[in-house]
Amino acid sequence: MISFAGVGKSFGDNHVLRELDLDVAAGEKVSIIGPSGSGKTTILRLLMTLEQPDSGLVEVDGELLWDCRNDVGAADTRRQAAVRRKIGMVFQHFNLFPHMTVLNNVTLSPIQVLGMPREEAEQRAVDLLQMVGLEKHLGHKPGQLSGGQQQRVAIARALAMRPKVMLFDEVTSALDPELIGEVLAVIRDLAHTTAMTMLLVTHEMRFAEEISDRVLMFDSGAVIESGPPSTIFENPQHERTQRFLKAVL
Ligand code: ADP
Repeated sequence: MISFAGVGKSFGDNHVLRELDLDVAAGEKVSIIGPSGSGKTTILRLLMTLEQPDSGLVEVDGELLWDCRNDVGAADTRRQAAVRRKIGMVFQHFNLFPHMTVLNNVTLSPIQVLGMPREEAEQRAVDLLQMVGLEKHLGHKPGQLSGGQQQRVAIARALAMRPKVMLFDEVTSALDPELIGEVLAVIRDLAHTTAMTMLLVTHEMRFAEEISDRVLMFDSGAVIESGPPSTIFENPQHERTQRFLKAVL
């Protein structure tokens, strides 16, 4: 479903990704762990076309998203946007539209981007908001909600586009500790009940252990160790992984 081949990305002299090869199968739930600044978020931002790679090739669902050899992506934004629409992302800081109601935040893209009739978009939004436990807040503005509630709206908003792939970027990092559980519960539910492909950058090690099919340990722009959560967390092979887990667990 997702394939990175020889992907490089620098910001000035900072080589954030080095010849990254990474494949995620359809339906697979993969967590990316590793120290701050190691390039984890950059991977998600390349998939969302919020950043452009310097080299290599990125495919999603068998279609090219980036091909630096042939300038695919930058040169063909309409086709790229169609591939991009297969992906939903939830950000650390929610990024909801503050002036719109919860309902309108969730219906906006299905109506404007997919051309879905308003009634259908609203019905689907109500179903999704019910799923994340927020059906009583349809008419509220994001500012009237807690951080955990806002993040659950953001998840519903991403799901409203019926993505094949969901990306979660440290979605609990900005939350007060007592609000983290309600957000993780929604993601856990999704992981266990849907066939969506999920790629998560997270500092919640126990959560990653519980929901992932595979965990990738990232350091300095490369995957240094990858395997099932039981191996990575209980019997890590790489010295850097051992040191990282010792520091965070
Ligand atoms: P992580 O998610 O592992 O913390 P990131 O992918 O966010 O790491 O960042 C990797 C490195 O790239 C960091 O050194 C960060 O400062 C740098 N970086 C990320 N985005 C930009 C940008 N838009 N401009 C310049 N440097 C950036």
